[in-house]
Amino acid sequence: MKCMTKAILPGSTIGIIGGGQLGRMMAIAAKTMGYKIAVLEPVNDGPCAKVADIEINAAYHDKEALKKLMELSDVVTYEFENIPGKIIEEICEYGYLPQGAMPLIISQDRALEKKTIQNCGLKTVPFKIINDLTDLKSGIKELGLPAVLKTCHGGYDGKGQIIITSDADIEKGLSLIETGTCVLEKYIDFICEISVIVAKSTIGEISVFPIAENIHQHNILHQTIVPARIDEKTKERAGKIGMELMNNLGFVGTLAIECFVLSDGDILINEIAPRPHNSGHYTIDACMTSQFEQHIRAICGLKLGSTTLLTSSVMVNILGQDMRKIPNLIHDKLFKQAKLHLYEKSIVKENRKMGHITFLGDDLAEIILSVNKYLNESR
Ligand code: ADP
Ligand code: MG
Repeated sequence: MKCMTKAILPGSTIGIIGGGQLGRMMAIAAKTMGYKIAVLEPVNDGPCAKVADIEINAAYHDKEALKKLMELSDVVTYEFENIPGKIIEEICEYGYLPQGAMPLIISQDRALEKKTIQNCGLKTVPFKIINDLTDLKSGIKELGLPAVLKTCHGGYDGKGQIIITSDADIEKGLSLIETGTCVLEKYIDFICEISVIVAKSTIGEISVFPIAENIHQHNILHQTIVPARIDEKTKERAGKIGMELMNNLGFVGTLAIECFVLSDGDILINEIAPRPHNSGHYTIDACMTSQFEQHIRAICGLKLGSTTLLTSSVMVNILGQDMRKIPNLIHDKLFKQAKLHLYEKSIVKENRKMGHITFLGDDLAEIILSVNKYLNESR
């Protein structure tokens, strides 16, 4: 059955490996179209399980449990990036997982990810692979300071990375290298960060969402502004980069590409994620088709939906410490033009993504004023 192209029709069961907010929003989109959802996730009753039909609680490396999910689902996808790619490779024979393991294997290793992107003829941030102090010293010499040292595996939301601004930071760098191979990147003085979200279906259709402008705070995505405030030519080029990368990689499903835009208009790829992405949450309320629905259409072999932007939007993440703002917001007039999404996470923690709000409207400048009012008023 492996990698056979077939249409998975409504009424069928979609299996999702990973039960967080991305799985939840995939499940909501799929259930709207009449699919059933099975989720595999280590923790009981998580965000996805709360809307799923079948829940399997098991570790991501539990092959028997994964095999069970493959057997009871008509198609399987993943929402969690850190499931060992090798395990996915092994379970493919028990069912239909059209994305395969390759997207995970590549995106789980920053060095392999960058080399693969470069092999596709596209630009990444200049980098060096670092295994020891000698590598680090020669990397700094070559790339200059400041530079960013990142672990190759397991980093997210800025975890597993440090900025090296002077030789005094080398000591800190060494403790990161002790955890495993790292990459040293040139620190990029970008004018803005954007993301390109591309979907490709099992029948070969490809679509790209409107380019999103991303603002990070403490390395965690804070806001996504759409349309991105960059010129049309740069947007067009970003879209082309997305299509080219997806086609050259030969992936299906969703690929989110995080990029840095330089002052001369050049675009460097920072990292990729083979799944719907936080910076694409705006599509739920602002586009004709959401990134989650598109992902379901893509893996099920349906015709892809239009990605037309219906309204300008700013998405703001709600972290644990922001939850106290919600009671005020829902009574405020700002809420007239805002959509609230909460992920039903039972444990509230600082910097944990609990939900997001999408502010909508015709005039981006006015939306930004509303967002600032929300952010300042409820502080
Ligand atoms: P994560 O996997 O944690 O999302 P990223 O590589 O995307 O890791 O880094 C998080 C954020 O840190 C980026 O969105 C960007 O704002 C900043 N950053 C990362 N690498 C660089 C760099 N080389 N130059 C400048 N800023 C960077
Ligand atoms: Mg990132």
